[in-house]
Amino acid sequence: MFIFLSNMKEIKTIFTFFAFLIFFNICGWAQSSDSLKTVVAQKGDGIYKILRENGYPAKDYYNAFKSINNNKIGLEDQLIQGETYFLPPFIEDIAEETSETNDSILIINDSIVQSNGLLYADTIIDKQLDGAIFYLISGHGGPDPGAVSEINGKQISEDEYAYDITLRIAKKIEEHSGKVFMIINDPNDGIRDDELLEIDYDEYCYPDAEIPRSQNQRLIQRADAVNDLYAENKKYKYQRVIIIHLDSRSTGANVDVFFYHFPGSKKGEATAKILQQKFSDKYAEFQPNRGYEGTVSPRNLLVIRKVLPPAVFIELGNIQNEKDRKRFVNPDNRQALAKWIVEGLIEEYPDN
Ligand SMILES: [Zn+2]
Repeated sequence: MFIFLSNMKEIKTIFTFFAFLIFFNICGWAQSSDSLKTVVAQKGDGIYKILRENGYPAKDYYNAFKSINNNKIGLEDQLIQGETYFLPPFIEDIAEETSETNDSILIINDSIVQSNGLLYADTIIDKQLDGAIFYLISGHGGPDPGAVSEINGKQISEDEYAYDITLRIAKKIEEHSGKVFMIINDPNDGIRDDELLEIDYDEYCYPDAEIPRSQNQRLIQRADAVNDLYAENKKYKYQRVIIIHLDSRSTGANVDVFFYHFPGSKKGEATAKILQQKFSDKYAEFQPNRGYEGTVSPRNLLVIRKVLPPAVFIELGNIQNEKDRKRFVNPDNRQALAKWIVEGLIEEYPDN
């Protein structure tokens, strides 16, 4: 996977823009967008929808579409009804023309499977999770940033931090040979070692669906994505859904980590308990004076009710709580949380 050193969207947009200029010039299309196909946005159209309906693998072309239409796209990537939009040229051509000039121009990142078959990790360390399947859902995304807060005058959002931690979990799972599906994806954000993570709205739901605005539809969409994958992977005995949020409703002085399972789900409860115990042990080891009050409890939440594999819903804290916010902006802490979760999963996995 390609991780951009710079997270600054503007820079990337400029690079992409130049990539297109180079491409057009080489092909003798200089300054001529006339040769591109166009489409008129209808009511309810979004970038994903238009791309899909015109035969593009939407996530690979999302940024390309934005770049060539950038003066007609809203702040949250919305399209203007009745406006004419260019459809991007094929990415094989763009990648060919640009890969020699500058690697950072590459538009695709997470859709590239490495030659070793890994999507998130660089290498496999051991086989401790071999045969296990995990569906990871980072909370919110797309038009919904989740809880928002401010730090040094800059706005930050729950979905970006949840996504970063979830990606770190995905990487660790792969390192231990587990199979992982990221249900929420962002075409251009990798693991970010920054304190302040830029808010964007371009996350999509597996495999390449635009995330709807309605909360219910959003939750049903991600549960359906898990269940479609589950149907294809039924032969695997151990499968878990892990959902990550950073907007715990707890109002106690020490906001802790809360684990929820669907009422009556024995497997979900077992996984939640192992994870909770892992956190309890880790805090006892590293912050003995902190006191840890994380709990496991049943909760009738739409996503964990609807997904077929056993699920654990984790509230790692609340980004609106000052202490927690400080905790989450530190990338080392995000890494530690991901590591503990995966250690817990390894402990539970029966074929260990
Ligand atoms: Zn949330």
